Amino acid sequence: MTIRVTVWNEHRHERSDPAVAAVYPDGIHGAIAAGLRQETDLEVATATLDEPEHGLGEAVLANTDVLTWWGHLAHDEVRDDVLERVHARVLDGMGLIVLHSGHFSRIFRRLMGTTCDLTWRESGERERLWVVDPSHPIAAGLETSFVLPEEEMYGEPFDVPAPDRLVLVSWFQGGEIFRSGACYQRGRGRIFYFRPGHETHPTYFDTNVRRVIANAVRWAAAGPGPGGPARAFGHRPEAPETLV
Ligand code: ZN
Repeated sequence: MTIRVTVWNEHRHERSDPAVAAVYPDGIHGAIAAGLRQETDLEVATATLDEPEHGLGEAVLANTDVLTWWGHLAHDEVRDDVLERVHARVLDGMGLIVLHSGHFSRIFRRLMGTTCDLTWRESGERERLWVVDPSHPIAAGLETSFVLPEEEMYGEPFDVPAPDRLVLVSWFQGGEIFRSGACYQRGRGRIFYFRPGHETHPTYFDTNVRRVIANAVRWAAAGPGPGGPARAFGHRPEAPETLV
């Protein structure tokens, strides 16, 4: 079965900062999409903030099984109606992969219900990501741990609800640790938060990072499954059994 992925990116750093453009000449979304396009079971499209409706119109979302989200500078520019549309689609079963600074996106904060705040330091530290749940499908094909030579540090406390499953934990050169790969379910939708991906480092070209994102897309697409009944809420005037 083909999984339809939409890779969403704010696409601002790459157009305003030559250092970021040098790392991501095709945009962060271009690099993430290129990694996913190496997978034969994925059909990949991209969308960015400055497109009409942020590239996330009704038809696009209706035809998206999994949405990946990278944002940083312009979280507050995401329109209310688009936010509501994405939120409704997640509750209805669309998978959502929230990347790096997307921890502060409107959609992630809405779905988590917490501040999603954390500690951070931008000094190009070594990051080692440990697989803490080797049985999880998102860990498929990974070694016990893997290293990113230079990344921004994100540290605990990370103000999110306790994950349903925690797949990855990061250690940083400066000593901090962080819950780097966390799974949630909201409504029928599966959500995965994945930490790496600062805009000045070539993280989205890394083989292991690409593997995690592709695995996460497949996991999120599986969702609770289309086979179950549609969700039905509200007044139920007809009882399923005869009332005595
Ligand atoms: Zn960053």
